[in-house]
Amino acid sequence: MRVFKFGGASVKDAAGIKNVYSVLQTAGYEDVLLVVSAMGKTTNALELVIKNYFDKSAELQSSVQEVKKYHNEILLDLFEDESNPVFTAVNMQFSDLEYFLAHNKSPNYNFVYDQIVSYGELISTTILSHFMSHMGIKTQWLDVRNFVKTNSNYRDAEVDWELTQKNISKNVKGKILNITQGFLGSDENNFTTTLGREGSDYTAAIFAYCLNAESVTIWKDVPGVMNADPRYFENASLLNQISYREAIELAFYGATVIHPKTLQPLQKKEIPLYVKSFINPLLPGTSVAKGADLEPYMPCFIVKRNQLLISLSSIDFSFIMEENISEIFALFHQFKLKVNLIQNSAISFSVCVEDKFGNFKDLNAILSKKFKVDFTENVTLYTIRHFDEKAAQTVEENKTVILKQVSRETMQIVTKES
Ligand code: ASP
Ligand code: MG
Repeated sequence: MRVFKFGGASVKDAAGIKNVYSVLQTAGYEDVLLVVSAMGKTTNALELVIKNYFDKSAELQSSVQEVKKYHNEILLDLFEDESNPVFTAVNMQFSDLEYFLAHNKSPNYNFVYDQIVSYGELISTTILSHFMSHMGIKTQWLDVRNFVKTNSNYRDAEVDWELTQKNISKNVKGKILNITQGFLGSDENNFTTTLGREGSDYTAAIFAYCLNAESVTIWKDVPGVMNADPRYFENASLLNQISYREAIELAFYGATVIHPKTLQPLQKKEIPLYVKSFINPLLPGTSVAKGADLEPYMPCFIVKRNQLLISLSSIDFSFIMEENISEIFALFHQFKLKVNLIQNSAISFSVCVEDKFGNFKDLNAILSKKFKVDFTENVTLYTIRHFDEKAAQTVEENKTVILKQVSRETMQIVTKES
């Protein structure tokens, strides 16, 4: 079996869905499982519905209508005949969503979030599988919540591998095109859970692992994994092959092409991962597999903007020792600040962090009682894997470098744009 993942961008409109059909014509669809995300920006649109629901906003109904309208337009573009059962099927999904909004009593934000946001994937796969059947492909729609079992940590649920393996081995059949939802799972009580934003890649890896799949292909609007983000670097080029280890490193430092959790299960069973263009499906793309670190060998650039550089020094010139450091890290963890770089000397300690949830102010109040705290907001962190002098120059040009750290394979540079 092969597992194909199609993300939101690939199914953002009727043309996108027709294109999925033509990719399948090229790549084949027997013994294939498609893992599909919500269409376009639907997940964000449903996040707004959730916000309006909790704020008791007057805009709740109109935000639901937006999502409906968007999908209806796609349906009308795809199916001329409004008596096609897909219209009833999608209507039923929306009725379920509206029923939930009208009757839910749970005040638990994360729980409610998962129950609502999941309609994005349920609806996209409903539309896609009806369309594939309509085009004559023998298709089976699978509710992923009957397969991927998780704990009840809503919005960031952890997979129960044993149960999931059992469900998948027993009930996924070959020979036909299987279509299921990325990102979703269900807990012990069969409530819907999600695996974290952008989690559909991970779903593909879970199925591949449990099916001992031949390969996973992530179809994207770029030719494959590039050595740099073409939006920030002029001469970005395609990597033909990278090792699992290199891919894990790149994802760790913030490369966004592959969701970081995706690689571990694939690497365990040495299942190759292909990242390919859904615009040019015949191009080879990138393969992530056992073997050479990087082919062709070249520096890889990862940019993280909006970072916070924090320097802590002891108030009385005493050393910053293991116990202080472990205390500092426990606080970063508690306040959900993600540490992307660490540098320390005898009496000072610097970190570059990402403050996704805006918690630094509260943390600073605690840290300032024990340390002298200096910080610079809005810095950019560049990571260069397999750096050379020219690569470093490219990054440093026209910028003020405020910190630089070099290890054998990785150079990290913190800059303030000037
Ligand atoms: N639809 C979800 C999201 O946008 C999952 C995914 O796209 O992978 O986060
Ligand atoms: Mg997405």
